[in-house]
Amino acid sequence: MEKIHNCVIIGSGPAGYSSAIYAARAGLYPILFSGFQPGGQLTTTSMIDNYLGFPKGISGNDFMDNCRKQAKRFNTKIINKSVTKVSFSTEKKGIHYIFLNKESIIKSIGVIIATGSSPKFLGIDNEKRLIGLGISFCATCDGFFHRNKDIAVVGGGDSALEEANYLSNICRKVYLLVRKDYLRASKILQNRIFSKKNIYILYNSNVIEIIGNDFLESIKILNNKNKTKNIISISGLFIAIGHIPNTSIFKNELELNKNGYIITKKGRTMTNKPGIFAAGDVQDYIYRQAITSAGSGCMAALDLERYLSS
Ligand code: NDP
Repeated sequence: MEKIHNCVIIGSGPAGYSSAIYAARAGLYPILFSGFQPGGQLTTTSMIDNYLGFPKGISGNDFMDNCRKQAKRFNTKIINKSVTKVSFSTEKKGIHYIFLNKESIIKSIGVIIATGSSPKFLGIDNEKRLIGLGISFCATCDGFFHRNKDIAVVGGGDSALEEANYLSNICRKVYLLVRKDYLRASKILQNRIFSKKNIYILYNSNVIEIIGNDFLESIKILNNKNKTKNIISISGLFIAIGHIPNTSIFKNELELNKNGYIITKKGRTMTNKPGIFAAGDVQDYIYRQAITSAGSGCMAALDLERYLSS
């Protein structure tokens, strides 16, 4: 008879590995599918300086490598494949089907989804090449490297204003580059930004060029109203134009919010299907930190353990 597992984890960021460690130590013999970007978003971060327990900081790759080794130490079965389709049961203790391709199907009573989200890119030259070398998608991760320097934030939503606000306490000048002539962010955040003396909002502004060889040096901006071009010298460009949760394979299976994030029970990790739990950025659009993801991965494993023994 084909084996029915207790715990399949989809995703290999901090939420995935943290849930694997807890599930393995609880005797659930987890299988973890690491997906198309093993290690997740942190593998594109140069240095993690804000994760508790690393007084000297740690590189994103080393951190994720440690997480993988720690999960393996407790006999998590890590499979470097992507899940292509799922079919989730609606019954309590029902069997969920996880498809790797047409031939390969895994059955499990419990599933933890930790597929994360992907930041949106501007889609211009040098953007990807200079990630970690001046281009960043996370102010709390990388802001520190730009202390007393000039930086720019792209975007006019809540994320961009949060980033700009955070960076204004560290950096000398913060340019906020907004493509429209108004901000989309909530009024409360807008008022906070307007009160900051070192934030300069440039409306109708599109970044059209990223300049720098080994590190970011400057950007070229086009004013889309009067068509003037400007170069500003900055050490950091923080791109905050939204995230896309990695939920395409779940959209007909689970309840998602209007932006595509998995809806979990308030303060818990249960989804609307029994035995399916979600952890990390795939269900959290507010905090999006490695440490909060790891915390929710732990919660998902504990919630699954209780589900299985109830
Ligand atoms: P949003 O989609 O709300 O905003 C994205 C911003 O980026 C918009 O200003 C948009 O411009 C701009 N943008 C998109 N594409 C480009 C591009 N190619 N070039 C330049 N600018 C671009 O995303 P957020 O990440 O800010 O927020 C996502 C959700 O999370 C929202 O619901 C938000 O309220 C929530 N959130 C809440 C927070 C809080 O409560 N503290 C904190 C962070 C997020 P345009 O307006 O022209 O489309």
